[in-house]
Amino acid sequence: DSPVTAAFTAPDGDIEASLRPKSLDDFIGQPRVREQLQLVLRGATMRGGTPDHILLSGPPGLGKTSMAMIIAAELGSSLRLTSGPALERAGDLAAMLSNLVEGDVLFIDEIHRIARPAEEMLYLAMEDFRVDVVVGKGPGATSIPLEVAPFTLVGATTRSGALTGPLRDRFGFTAHMDFYEPAELQLILRRSAAILGIDLHDDASAEIAGRSRGTPRIANRLLRRVRDYAEVRADGVVTRDIAMAALEVYDVDPIGLDRLDRAVLGALVRSFGGGPVGVSTLAVAVGEEPGTVEEVCEPFLVRAGMIARTPRGRVATAAAWLQLGLTPPPEAAT
Ligand code: ADP
Repeated sequence: DSPVTAAFTAPDGDIEASLRPKSLDDFIGQPRVREQLQLVLRGATMRGGTPDHILLSGPPGLGKTSMAMIIAAELGSSLRLTSGPALERAGDLAAMLSNLVEGDVLFIDEIHRIARPAEEMLYLAMEDFRVDVVVGKGPGATSIPLEVAPFTLVGATTRSGALTGPLRDRFGFTAHMDFYEPAELQLILRRSAAILGIDLHDDASAEIAGRSRGTPRIANRLLRRVRDYAEVRADGVVTRDIAMAALEVYDVDPIGLDRLDRAVLGALVRSFGGGPVGVSTLAVAVGEEPGTVEEVCEPFLVRAGMIARTPRGRVATAAAWLQLGLTPPPEAAT
């Protein structure tokens, strides 16, 4: 396997792959994105051309890779996978691009992490379907133009704000994937349980959905851990009691916050008195990249009503204080 494919195959990777939705109709949630994408894909198919380049943005685990696979499947095309960090040299990208056949979908995960020279090569490839490969060094260097077969680039990013303007401008359509509603996660869990042959009670799936941080990948992971518990400690049937007991064993937060979410909330409340504080200061306090705090953690905490963004910085809401078992000060936002 190439390093790129290996990166997608975590332990339990085969299971994860089996749980991926295979078509737009199979994809649960994100109704706007699905409708918009359907138009983009159908329009191009009706005209007999390749669709515009597509950017998928949103926090990890919300289905960007699955969606890229679906785009290729809906077009009846092959999908080539790579990632921004894997494209360190322009030559890596040139090799990838020159191997494409007409209509292929090229998926670049974490596209905001692509190296500058590769990014500049990508501009030309996206716009004119050609690349200039520079051979040699110094005054004798020559640039050889190479044709690239018309393809559709699907980029995925957790940080669309980190993309350079010229790169962003070359995408014809940007889909923003948002956290899922508990009811949608419940449908995803039901679908996964059917695929894995798990007897999952409705009230159990509701319990797991509520603790999945709005994220299908987390929902599926919790389902697998709950199944382990049900099979080892009981008769395999996942009832609500079994789900609750299992989630307790795995220290899953009642509202689904993860370690970083809790660290950020803790720092905001305990070290900064509830704010306001800038996101980079907050990131330093928890030893994390500002980008990760801003793009992965904060959106969920805002959505969960724990953090409010104000012009002077982030502030903890009363719910955040209560979440940490503390009494909110009278001035705390609600
Ligand atoms: P991302 O690329 O955004 O990190 P993935 O596409 O890898 O997310 O999705 C993670 C897992 O979550 C997939 O294996 C898939 O099983 C599941 N998943 C994501 N979105 C959906 C969905 N809408 N319906 C069903 N399962 C989903």
